[in-house]
Amino acid sequence: LLHNYIEDLKGKIRVFCRVRPMNEMELARNCSSTVTIRDDFTLFFEMKSGVVKQFSFDSIFGPQSTQEEVFEDTKKLIQSAIDGYNVCIFAYGQTGSGKTYTIQGDRDSNAGLVPRAIDEIYSMMKKLGPNFEFKLSCYMVELYKTTLIDLLKPYQKNSERVDLSIVRDAHGMVVIPETTIKHPRNAEELHLIYNKGIDGRHVSNTKMNTQSSRSHAIFSVLIEVTNRNTDQKTIGKLSFVDLAGSERIGKTEATAEGLREGNEINKSLTILGNVINALARGDSHIPYRDNKLTMLMRDSIGGSAKTLMIVNISPAHFNRDETQISLYYGAKAK
Ligand code: ADP
Ligand code: MG
Repeated sequence: LLHNYIEDLKGKIRVFCRVRPMNEMELARNCSSTVTIRDDFTLFFEMKSGVVKQFSFDSIFGPQSTQEEVFEDTKKLIQSAIDGYNVCIFAYGQTGSGKTYTIQGDRDSNAGLVPRAIDEIYSMMKKLGPNFEFKLSCYMVELYKTTLIDLLKPYQKNSERVDLSIVRDAHGMVVIPETTIKHPRNAEELHLIYNKGIDGRHVSNTKMNTQSSRSHAIFSVLIEVTNRNTDQKTIGKLSFVDLAGSERIGKTEATAEGLREGNEINKSLTILGNVINALARGDSHIPYRDNKLTMLMRDSIGGSAKTLMIVNISPAHFNRDETQISLYYGAKAK
């Protein structure tokens, strides 16, 4: 199903909700579902209180939805990035709700949004023909607590990963001066770079003794298009953000480090929520500068940027508290 509202997404934030299927363990235990999908835009959720509440989104993808279907609804955003807009697609939800599955997918059969977008960028560029010249560049970083890490830097034993700084250029574009910038020459190379970044994430998590669910991963592709006839140039940026798990820290993590980590994650997600809510309300002051995550995403949320948030939720009854928080987080963005 293709929805035309992405047409005038500019400056606004669209919110999709994706409900993952029950996993084998949940099925084996006959786990009940808290979510009933009414149609493409509405779902019913059984709250903690027992009250059933209706939530609306710009699009809802049920447990049977395919990677292809989710991608179909984001294609126009990829076109926008080629047209010179900054576009940001991010996945929000508790650990295990399907964020990485949606953004990255399974490496072989069920490719997620990024691998599909890579192929789409090149096929769209090819369609534009020889009158247009393209220059692509990309970077991939990870934000763990307040440390920003280059995921494309070759890993060297015994070398600490440095904390990168974030600046803005004269056009307001977010720039990370010390991070590795790659210049892919074709789709194949861009796939390789992205996969290298995924590997880099595993390495950095092993090294810092953390899990990827505790950090935010950002993959950005800059697309520079020059019209050979007019010499006119546009630059768009397409970013995908696999956010850290939104779950509230529980008793099991109540070590000093676990708490610090959890607080930092909760803080960045809360501030991201504040930015989104301020934009949704049309506030004049948008509190981007409060946090590294929002500073990183500043050129891709609000202004002329087109932003899509995908709220990933679990239908399982024992995830109800987190699902409720996620649904409200997504609903507030509208
Ligand atoms: P997160 O990144 O939010 O922690 P994952 O994407 O790793 O969650 O998903 C957790 C598990 O559920 C993975 O094994 C993943 O393959 C599976 N999964 C998530 N969403 C779906 C889906 N829509 N269809 C099939 N399997 C899914
Ligand atoms: Mg994940």
